[in-house]
Amino acid sequence: MSPLPPLREVIRRHGLSASKALGQNFLFDSQLLDRIARVPGDLNGQEVFEVGPGPGGLTRALLGAGAQVTAVERDRRCIPALEELGEAFPGQLRVIEGDALEVDAPALFATKPHIASNLPYNVGTALLVGWLSADWQPWWASLTLMFQKEVAERIVAAPGTDHYGRLAVLAQWRSAARIAMPVHRSAFTPPPKVMSAVVHIVPTDEPPGVQFRVLEKLTAAAFGQRRKMLRQSLKGVPGAVEAAEALGIDPTRRAETVSVAEFVDLARALS
Ligand code: SAM
Repeated sequence: MSPLPPLREVIRRHGLSASKALGQNFLFDSQLLDRIARVPGDLNGQEVFEVGPGPGGLTRALLGAGAQVTAVERDRRCIPALEELGEAFPGQLRVIEGDALEVDAPALFATKPHIASNLPYNVGTALLVGWLSADWQPWWASLTLMFQKEVAERIVAAPGTDHYGRLAVLAQWRSAARIAMPVHRSAFTPPPKVMSAVVHIVPTDEPPGVQFRVLEKLTAAAFGQRRKMLRQSLKGVPGAVEAAEALGIDPTRRAETVSVAEFVDLARALS
């Protein structure tokens, strides 16, 4: 295989100046990109779904690890650069021009793909919530996602901490979430204002007898008034205060002290 041109040259040749509107902050450091591509584990022969490949820095690392990559990119300017990259890894890269919020991603894969992405900030949270919000088993094998550090901390937060809230319960009720690595703002071009972190999420066994809708309703009510006692914040969810008492969850507690397992028990009682 002929060596790949440096990413900065790809960007210059294809005129890929970073667009703020598309949340473009590119990564060029191949060692860092290889480290991110190693987070999901051995990708050799595995299907990977990449959102927002841009000029293809992370894509290169994923292809180099032997993955079969399907990449969805909204910025038409990036497509020729990605097609060139595909030629260097024959049969390994499928590029789809489109909006990741609109593509029917599960339909694109024969096996459960690993999802890996340096996401635009605004799109990232919406996609994450979509990937985690379902009653059925997830269609993906793992998520390796770049977030602003503060959002990453909310995803992995433990009860009793300031960051703990709906996002933590959503990410942890049937998956294990951890911060795989912090990423300094200076690693990006252009550098964003804040620090970032890569989050790794893997599904765990689905807790039996829990309807996601009910869990969603409970966390929305409880964290909607996070400084209030549960007996006040859960008033709008019929039967919730009584169910909490029956489970030994003291209704004078506040949402931020209720563990993910306790929310799951409560949702099961009401499902
Ligand atoms: N993966 C590249 C990297 O790490 O250097 C680029 C990351 S940049 C933060 C985010 C990328 O997502 C951009 O290429 C942008 O065009 C693309 N993007 C933004 N919104 C998108 C959407 N809704 N669907 C697909 N791609 C999107």
